[in-house]
Amino acid sequence: MIVELQNATLTYQSPDGEVEALQGITFGVREGEFVSIVGPSGCGKSTLLSLIAGLEAPSSGAVLVDGEAVSAPSPKVGFMPQKDQLFPWRTILGNVTLGLELQGLPRREQLARVNELLERYGLAAFAGKTPAQLSGGMRQRCALIRTLATSPKILLLDEPFSALDYQTRLSVSADIYSIIRREHKTALLVTHDISEAISLSDRIVVLSRRPARIKAVHTLEDLAGVPPMARRDHPSFPSYFQTIWKELDVNV
Ligand code: ADP
Repeated sequence: MIVELQNATLTYQSPDGEVEALQGITFGVREGEFVSIVGPSGCGKSTLLSLIAGLEAPSSGAVLVDGEAVSAPSPKVGFMPQKDQLFPWRTILGNVTLGLELQGLPRREQLARVNELLERYGLAAFAGKTPAQLSGGMRQRCALIRTLATSPKILLLDEPFSALDYQTRLSVSADIYSIIRREHKTALLVTHDISEAISLSDRIVVLSRRPARIKAVHTLEDLAGVPPMARRDHPSFPSYFQTIWKELDVNV
């Protein structure tokens, strides 16, 4: 297991008292796996990613990445947030080299690494543009390239497609799925969109209302090897959808 949570619990201390976000979370992610996390709004999904990213520490239990307890953010883990968070005053090139600049990599090596990624993923011609000159889908791809540039083994994706309109969202998510597969990354995606989770994942973890506990884990065996767009037309899609829809019912 490249990511492991063992009975992880997290309680936030806030001025208004304690907020119990996660309770007894135990699960593992295998190398190369694409796992989605779905759950009601505010249940603790982002908190779960923060634990794996080393941005929060568990109140009890353990969180391991590559067999080591997580104690701080690590270069093994790349994080892609909801909004692309590109700097508007930097060019696309300036944005995708940011992580490597922070790592202190020599400029020539930075350029070698990002130019190849920009080329491979169709953004080379836009390297000198600013984010405002790109479409939403291209900016998301740029944010992914910035995350990939530092060569993390694990990608944490927190609702990365939520700011996009429906059509763009479908094509960008399929696009990003194929990039992640080609780069042999392990991915953990937080989403509130059941169809998106079914289209992209090997497994789906369903969380309960806050404090989040694991309600169910689904392995999408029938859809293994089927590309994201084709999954939506697959005969097994509706039954997976209905099962997860029922599990997410806030009254249950
Ligand atoms: P989700 O991603 O599922 O919408 P979050 O993980 O963002 O949920 O939040 C889970 C709960 O923890 C929410 O009730 C939220 O208000 C609370 N929370 C998140 N971060 C903090 C924090 N730093 N301090 C106190 N409470 C927090």
